[in-house]
Amino acid sequence: MGEAVTIKRENNIKLESFIKNYLNPKYVFLPIDEGYKLRVIDNSYVYKNDIVMFTDKGKSVHSSVSGRVLGIKDMLYSNGVKKSSLVIENDLKENVRVRKSAKKYIDNYDKESFLQMLDDTSFKYRNKYVVQKFLENKRILLINGIELEPYFANKYFELLENADIILETIDLLSNIFHFEKTVLAIKNNSSDIINNFMNELGTYPNIDLKLMGDAYPNGMDDYLKKILELDDPLILSIEEVLGIYHILKKQVPVSEKLVTITGNAVNPKCVIKVKLGSLLSEVFINNFDFTEKSVVVYLNGNMTGRVVDTLKFVIDSTVDGIVVMKKSVKQVEDCISCGLCFKCCPMGLNPKYVFDHLGNVKGEYKEGCLQCGLCNYVCPSNIDLKSYMNGSEKN
Ligand code: SF4
Ligand code: SF4
Repeated sequence: MGEAVTIKRENNIKLESFIKNYLNPKYVFLPIDEGYKLRVIDNSYVYKNDIVMFTDKGKSVHSSVSGRVLGIKDMLYSNGVKKSSLVIENDLKENVRVRKSAKKYIDNYDKESFLQMLDDTSFKYRNKYVVQKFLENKRILLINGIELEPYFANKYFELLENADIILETIDLLSNIFHFEKTVLAIKNNSSDIINNFMNELGTYPNIDLKLMGDAYPNGMDDYLKKILELDDPLILSIEEVLGIYHILKKQVPVSEKLVTITGNAVNPKCVIKVKLGSLLSEVFINNFDFTEKSVVVYLNGNMTGRVVDTLKFVIDSTVDGIVVMKKSVKQVEDCISCGLCFKCCPMGLNPKYVFDHLGNVKGEYKEGCLQCGLCNYVCPSNIDLKSYMNGSEKN
């Protein structure tokens, strides 16, 4: 297994020190996934948090705004697939049917009421229901607080502003599910964040804080659990922990998320809070500008993400941000057999072998590829090895 690598960042790519808000999109788009039935009709009025579609198994989708249902439209999502989506025109009033008061404490949930609350709000992260993770009876809890993409800072702000909430929620989970071990992993490069956690940690002796180097791909779940030598843990991201807190405290679904917009060809560069279901192009047009005529846009980062030629996709829980870079022509050259790509691979794979045997290589040579992009990053010949290691592409 290759060692994590320190990724060089461009010095001129600096983020604003605050989170911007764009919580008043004109429209929100909610995907109508397989098995979902609509609960609303065209022109009907919906309140924020209303269930607008549901499955026979009790899952539901909630509106993140109040407003009028306009109909159904095919919309693009981060995986490049178009899906039929419910379109709601935001009336900017944030009307709710019943205004629930926040709970004073979250520690009075037991296992059943906790699972019920997650289920009722159909909390999804990366398109998976979070409640499912808690039904797998894992014995170790690992909280991944490490930003994966070098230029993103969603987790930085979440950790900086919410140390007390994060620890309180992790402690609650640990008590409800009686985990044998509870580990919180964060980067070791922010003294402000470390101090905030250290100041609070004395109250939570059962939480084991691990400080990890600012190296890539430490933030990738599969890599992190390997280097921490944790056997089959339940892994939650910081976003999931904060989502759980929000649901338990406010008793309403999660309707917002942080997204990083950065790169050497965009201004400003910052983390922005948006409504789930917003269109990225609308967020961008109202808050950002390209600074160059010719740019490359990486959806979800320049390491694990992919290049896109449009910003017209819907922001769901899979969208963490974009990196906008000046277009530069990188000449692809012949492989010089330097060996860097297989020395660095965190999964011990050999991308050079796959590249050398294109169209004639067994699937097992690509098995386990994390699509982390490290092989691309280190390759002096600029070969797009990552795409050849993607089982679904090219060979
Ligand atoms: S993209 Fe795949 S092959 Fe390349 S370094 Fe990452 S895990 Fe290894
Ligand atoms: S890093 Fe690039 S040049 Fe070096 S062996 Fe791998 S493919 Fe060849």
